[in-house]
Amino acid sequence: PLEERARSLDRIANALEARSDEIAELESRDTGKPLALARAVDAARSVLNFRFFAELGRELPDEQYKMEDALNIVVRKPVGVAGLITPWNLPLYLLSWKVAPAILMGNAVVCKPSRLTPLTANLLAEVVTDAGLPAGVVNLVHGSGSACGNALVEHPAVGAISFTGGTEAARHVVANTANNFAHLSLELGGKSPILVFDDADLEGAVNGAVAGNFGASGQSCVAGSRVFVQSGIYADFIDAVVQRAEQVRIGDPLEADTQMGPLATQAQRDRAEEVVAESVAQGATLHTGGGRPPGLEAGWYFQPTLLGCPDQSIRSTQVELFAPVMSALKFETEEEGIALANDTVFGLGAGVFTENLARAHRVAAAVHSGIVWINTYRAISPISPFGGYGQSGYGREAGLDVIQEFTRTKAVWVNTSSAPMANPFVMR
Ligand code: NAD
Repeated sequence: PLEERARSLDRIANALEARSDEIAELESRDTGKPLALARAVDAARSVLNFRFFAELGRELPDEQYKMEDALNIVVRKPVGVAGLITPWNLPLYLLSWKVAPAILMGNAVVCKPSRLTPLTANLLAEVVTDAGLPAGVVNLVHGSGSACGNALVEHPAVGAISFTGGTEAARHVVANTANNFAHLSLELGGKSPILVFDDADLEGAVNGAVAGNFGASGQSCVAGSRVFVQSGIYADFIDAVVQRAEQVRIGDPLEADTQMGPLATQAQRDRAEEVVAESVAQGATLHTGGGRPPGLEAGWYFQPTLLGCPDQSIRSTQVELFAPVMSALKFETEEEGIALANDTVFGLGAGVFTENLARAHRVAAAVHSGIVWINTYRAISPISPFGGYGQSGYGREAGLDVIQEFTRTKAVWVNTSSAPMANPFVMR
């Protein structure tokens, strides 16, 4: 029963909360993110996800329609087995975002975490076992995307795949569901714009851009990595970001005062170095950063980097980097800013910084993205739908929307008239 499943989610939340320090340390060691960040975001929000969906389960509205001589009751049925495939940047957080609503709605799940960051998925498996879930409800399989992920996606018993990862892997996932027609939800990458208007509060806008680009070393799907700054405020904005970037304390993620750890893999750093070098060769101005921080030879460290880009032919404005690299571009008018922001195949997040309320709403309505933040950036909650447009994917995490990803409706019609069903060949 739903109420019993909600109680299971509460038990999982309590057990995760009791192991928060362990979760933070495992996540920090696996991903390289600072311990303080792993505690505040990864550990805390994983607990919150289970608590939130336990509560939502108790509040789910009934859906029914009263017609003339009929009652239509809409029942939500589980899809059966859901495959949950997750990336390496927020391992337990993103897994809990999927597991909690999926099992709340009565599904069994097979989790396939990233091979790069497997540790907290193992911890979750221990926690659900200790929480007394029946064997087989939450399953965990480790392995590569091409072998293990493919096998899960193609399996005839799988009713839904909830995938978070990159665009290339997603293309395989879409093709590989051609036989089982599994329902798909795709949370993919982005190249999200932040628009800073002349009338913006400079400190707030700089904080938004810094959070959107240097937070978690830029390894965020909603990184606001294209920052469009209106010409009147451009020079001040660049100076302020350079100052902030050069103050970031980079170092061992397990040290208490570290603000930025290394990138997760050598490949990530190699790519950041290559794209920054190519962008500079194409005509971008390197305002700060661009390489390895002095004194940190061991580990995949990369400096917070600001590139001033003349236009969007520069490579750093086009590719998702997953590194602390901000590309800043100048614009003149609101129309031009919107057109530049929308000149992308992605559409996940967007930021707007302005003190003009009417403009804030105009721009929010015009940017092509699933999430828009006005005078803030990266705010997130399990109640608010999360997902993208275009090549950022389809389907939604969180809120009531995610309940639909893991259920199928069954419409039950009940004849409520006092007469038996009429003869269909006799017109009245
Ligand atoms: P990835 O696509 O390489 O891998 C993601 C997951 O998919 C891994 O578990 C991987 O093993 C699996 N996988 C790979 N190929 C597969 C296949 N053919 N079939 C089935 N599974 C397969 O991505 P990544 O490098 O781990 O993560 C970074 C990407 O994730 C970025 O593009 C980022 O933007 C995206 N991301 C999106 C969100 C979001 O909510 N929109 C959140 C975080 C990360």
